Amino acid sequence: MSRLKLDQTQALYQRAKAVMPWGVSSNFRYWGEAETPVITRGQGAYIWDADGNRYIDYRLAFGPIILGHADPRVNQSVTDAIGNSTLFAHTQPLEIEVAERMTRMCPGVEKVRYANSGTEATMHALRIARAYTNREKFIKFEGCYHGFHDAVLFSTATTPVGSLGSRRSPLAAQNSSGIPEVMRSLVISLVYNDLELLERTVRARYHEIAAIMVEPIAGNMAAIMPAPGFLELIRKLCDEYGIVMIMDEVKTGFRIARGGAAEYFGVKGDLMTYAKSLANGFPLAAIGGSNAVMGAIEPGAVAHGGTYCGNAVGAAAAMATLDILAKTDALEQIHARGVRPIRNYRDTSRSNPALYERLAGAMRQRGVEVEPDWREPLFLCVALTPADVEETLNVVNDSVKEVHSG
Ligand code: PMP
Repeated sequence: MSRLKLDQTQALYQRAKAVMPWGVSSNFRYWGEAETPVITRGQGAYIWDADGNRYIDYRLAFGPIILGHADPRVNQSVTDAIGNSTLFAHTQPLEIEVAERMTRMCPGVEKVRYANSGTEATMHALRIARAYTNREKFIKFEGCYHGFHDAVLFSTATTPVGSLGSRRSPLAAQNSSGIPEVMRSLVISLVYNDLELLERTVRARYHEIAAIMVEPIAGNMAAIMPAPGFLELIRKLCDEYGIVMIMDEVKTGFRIARGGAAEYFGVKGDLMTYAKSLANGFPLAAIGGSNAVMGAIEPGAVAHGGTYCGNAVGAAAAMATLDILAKTDALEQIHARGVRPIRNYRDTSRSNPALYERLAGAMRQRGVEVEPDWREPLFLCVALTPADVEETLNVVNDSVKEVHSG
């Protein structure tokens, strides 16, 4: 089949490259010299590139677009709000309303503070946990991703499995140059879903562990589900040893269920971090948690804040998004979950990333955009119609044939 026309996209990409490193604002957006997309428009389940090629979007900005692109109800709520300005050096009523709504929707959330990205939310959560426990280290699991800040960028799903050390005593591996070596000494990296290793480590080292941070579904390593008892064991060990359980709900929040993974699995963190689906693509993030642990925040003593925290743009978008998610069957419509035979990041080394990337490339040529990185899940939005799904399945069929014969 003939290749897509990408002349305009290429011209824009060249301009981008002249003024932005690698021509992108986030490293994950770089797909290569000839392939890096430039997208001009999104509506519902579709996006269009600068050459007018249309794609059914299963990436949804890495997850936030839960309702669909440019949802008119969310846009209206934002438009109504910004007529009164977007930001003050003071609290706004909208942020109070969103926080009230979150405490009603999300099990375990009694208090809320805002941030502007998932990265910021996990950064603050870790500080709160450290302040609450007066301990410094934390447990993170291989393949889980919690954002770009120095404390958490270790042993993610971009770390080669060969760099992770032995299963009995895993090594924390930096995912970027520029992270001070001292940060590594604060991370205890463990194998996701390995209950025995977790229990042994906590019993031996609890006195130095401030938090156990976990993606309740490992959305950054092919959406591996928690093994039976895994989240429950984290909860139990945290209770027993005074450790703060941080459930990173940046991907699962307001998506896997209205109350996120805490509702879906019936296990509450002491702290939960939210972003993505909270505001359908507008930048708003939050840290939510119990009165006790959130109570560690204290002016002059335990710092949390930020110029843009709780801004009206994000809060108005969240208001409309949460309203729709709470009152309609939006999540039931898009709820689709596969059976996952793998249990941890090390198991994923049996997959064939190159073949998957070729398949994703063949699908994109036919107007369906899935993540070429096999570790990212496919995201679905409410705007996706049965006809879109039908079209996607035909595209998958044709693409598999092409990749197979090629
Ligand atoms: N936590 C998780 C679970 C995530 O999936 C992500 C982003 N993919 C983040 C944190 C970081 O969020 P952000 O990109 O908004 O900084």
